Amino acid sequence: MVVKKKVEKVECNDRLCPKHGDKKLKLRGRIFEGEILKKLPGRVTIQFERMVKVPKYERYEKRKTKLHARLPDCMKNGVNVGDLIQISETRPISKMIHFVVISIIKSSKMGEKLKWRQ
Ligand SMILES: [Zn+2]
Repeated sequence: MVVKKKVEKVECNDRLCPKHGDKKLKLRGRIFEGEILKKLPGRVTIQFERMVKVPKYERYEKRKTKLHARLPDCMKNGVNVGDLIQISETRPISKMIHFVVISIIKSSKMGEKLKWRQ
């Protein structure tokens, strides 16, 4: 008998999960870090600031970028609005989504608790 090896520590029925799922999403392209603005079923919107040079004034200005990223099933409980997360580019999943959440850098809940203690 052949026993198939399955690593199932976290239940994840998401087919488009970069870690689990039978159709693993291949990560390629650029990686960004940003704060979550919106959390919707299966996806999040993140925002981050970037610097753009203004040649006329020889200075830099801040510009904001919003990106939509897919949120895999196994991460949906660990992510909240205000968290700092890392997203990676992947193939286009829908019209707007071609990024996927890969890790949580800083949880806003932890920050709130720390602030509250002070
Ligand atoms: Zn998963």
